[in-house]
This record gives sequence, C-alpha cells and structure tokens, in this order.
Amino acid sequence: MIVGFLAREFGVRWGMGDFLTPQRRSAMMARIRAKDTKPELTVRQYLFRCGFRFRIHDKRLPGTPDIVLPKYRTVIFVHGCFWHGHHGCTHFRLPSSHVDFWRAKILRNRERDQEHLDRLESLSWRVIVVWECELRNKSIREATLHGLVNEIWEVPRDANRNRGD
Ligand SMILES: [Zn+2]
Repeated sequence: MIVGFLAREFGVRWGMGDFLTPQRRSAMMARIRAKDTKPELTVRQYLFRCGFRFRIHDKRLPGTPDIVLPKYRTVIFVHGCFWHGHHGCTHFRLPSSHVDFWRAKILRNRERDQEHLDRLESLSWRVIVVWECELRNKSIREATLHGLVNEIWEVPRDANRNRGD
C-alpha cells in the first residue's frame, strides 16, 4: 500500500505531515483504517501509520504521558473513562458497593491528572486527552483519530525553524 510505503520511506526523516498538502492529508487519513484494539494501542498504531514518530510512556515528563511527539511539542494521554472519571460520560458509572471508596479514589485520580496537565502546560507542552469512549466503535473511532491528527498538525512546530528548508 502506497501510504505504508511512504510512511516507511519518509516517515522517520520528515514525518508525513510535512510534505503533504491538506487535501492529500485528508485523503491519506481516509484510507488508513483504525483497528479495534486496546485504546492506547489503537491510537499509537494509527499515528504510526500516519507517519508520526513518538516516544511512549516517557517518565521524564509529568504524568508519564502515553504518547510524546517532541517535534510537535505535544503529549497525548489515552484515558480509561472509569479510572480517570470521565465527566458526564455514560460509560463511567461508580460500582454499587463501596461507593465512597471509589468516588474518593477517582476524585484523586482526576486531581492528579489536572496537576500533570498544569505542569505539562507550564513546560509549554500541548496536552491532548483521548477518552476510551471516543474509540468505542468504528465510526466514532475514525472521527476521533482523524480529529486527533488534525489537532496535532495545528500545533506550531519550533523544530521547523532550525531545519533550514
Ligand atoms: Zn468516556
């Protein structure tokens, strides 16, 4: 497949985002199908196939972000709706027993997430959160991943200034 070929040939050096027009980007994203796997893996595989190169689980950054795209100064967290207490999400429901325990635990997780987000932003990182429920079925997943890639591309890239082209 041509997209896979291009990604393999050029992805490491430039990243797909750098040499495709917006029209070509859209066409490319429409052809790349997201597989139904573990949420974080789904996102990683999709980004990789789009030509992005990234680090994973970088412990040097607050909150150990799931995906780090240094070139775009962007980090991505793929959050489970329950553990991270996705506000207003229909997939997030407290267990019927030990409600107070779970409520306190999830509240703590949310507070911790917010602290990490604040610290990352104070270090000039852009933080994107992808929720598990946003990947739950094919059509929602495709829309989420497509939107994610567009969001990444919107970020001004300091790296470009030093590339000399
Ligand atoms: Zn959710």
